[in-house]
Amino acid sequence: MQEREDLAEIRRAVRALCEEFPGEYWREKDRERAYPGEFVDALTRAGFLAALIPEEYGGSGLKLDSAAVIMEEIQAAGCNGAAAHAQMYVMNTLLRYGSEEQKRTYLPGIAAGELRLQAFGVSEPTSGTDTLSLKTRAVRDGDEYVINGQKIWTSRAEHSDLMALLARTTPRDQVASKTEGLSLFLVDMRKAVGNGMTIKPIRTMMNHSTTEVFFDELRIPASALIGEEGKGFRYILSGMNAERILIAAECIGDAKWFIERATGYAKERSVFGAPIGKNQGIQFPIARCYAQMRAAELMVHHAAEVYDRGGNAGAEANMAKMLASEASWAAADMCVQTHGGFGFAEEYDVERKFREARLYTVAPISTNLILSYLAEHVLGLPRSY
Ligand SMILES: Cc1cc2nc3c(=O)[nH]c(=O)nc-3n(C[C@H](O)[C@H](O)[C@H](O)COP(=O)(O)OP(=O)(O)OC[C@H]3O[C@@H](n4cnc5c(N)ncnc54)[C@H](O)[C@@H]3O)c2cc1C
Repeated sequence: MQEREDLAEIRRAVRALCEEFPGEYWREKDRERAYPGEFVDALTRAGFLAALIPEEYGGSGLKLDSAAVIMEEIQAAGCNGAAAHAQMYVMNTLLRYGSEEQKRTYLPGIAAGELRLQAFGVSEPTSGTDTLSLKTRAVRDGDEYVINGQKIWTSRAEHSDLMALLARTTPRDQVASKTEGLSLFLVDMRKAVGNGMTIKPIRTMMNHSTTEVFFDELRIPASALIGEEGKGFRYILSGMNAERILIAAECIGDAKWFIERATGYAKERSVFGAPIGKNQGIQFPIARCYAQMRAAELMVHHAAEVYDRGGNAGAEANMAKMLASEASWAAADMCVQTHGGFGFAEEYDVERKFREARLYTVAPISTNLILSYLAEHVLGLPRSY
């Protein structure tokens, strides 16, 4: 089926930009575990990271389906959108629930590339996926909140000016419903670091610039609160649907990259006097991954459509994320197998993409938790936790 012309146009523009950042660029960053700042700057200058910001604040006012195409195409070109994707989905929470003053204060700067909104502080070491038991506290003191606690896996914190932070404002035993009592803040990290906020990088199996963030009597203005106090969990759920759809789109891009690489290699690598791709033992896994990717892709498009219509995309976003991350991981494994020993050689980029693709069946939400959501909320099975 022919793609909408505006989406095809975005694809071409992203692809052209990505050509400036070939495998050698990513290999070097990966080796050094260095942030791909030049790539993120190029995306920002081209306006891609401001895609979702309304035109009145200096962005392009596009919908999530366009943002998803941007992220997919970055991955399909062999680049790594993880360096920048949070700006897209954190943005959505600010757009939906931020005050007019907050939008006017931050969005034009973000759209112009002067401010980076790349950090999203939810996960904590002791609460894990059980977000409602997080312990970081924000206590109101006059015109300020005082923050104490710790976050983990706060990616890109060292490369962001702003952080969306989820903290508890009312103790858990004092709220009527367990989803109440958490609040969302937009923290200006330029003022916070060294004044109650400390960031420590975590080295991981792939280049992801993730960190631990410690809060020790950090004071932030009360105006940093997004929406109403105590309603933060509800706000981030909507942002998380956008996040899941965008990451699912990235997984589709990864799967396309693996399938294209495997197909190309299978045609040119000759063993026993014939291209390995002549063997159905090589063809079938590639064909199966293609079918799996296409099915997941349909769900990603559907989820973006439901989200863009303003509906509750919870089920679709979760299914898209699960199916797409499984499709990309299956394609990653297939691509290594197709390449034989060369799948492990750095210069082919397959091993790097393989490590990068592994993340997405775990983060930002793991497969078990998605299955649990579907079982309980869609199928009406009894709650298990
Ligand atoms: C590289 C990286 C970057 C990240 N970036 C960010 C970020 O920017 N901001 C942020 O806030 N977080 C971030 N995260 C955190 C990420 O969202 C979590 O790691 C993820 O949600 C899983 O949570 P957990 O690690 O605490 O696992 P846990 O909750 O400890 O779960 C461990 C395992 O147990 C399973 N499990 C748990 N409970 C159940 C149950 N009831 N039934 C069945 N299975 C269960 C899970 O599925 C998982 O497989 C990042 C993580 C990584 C690794």
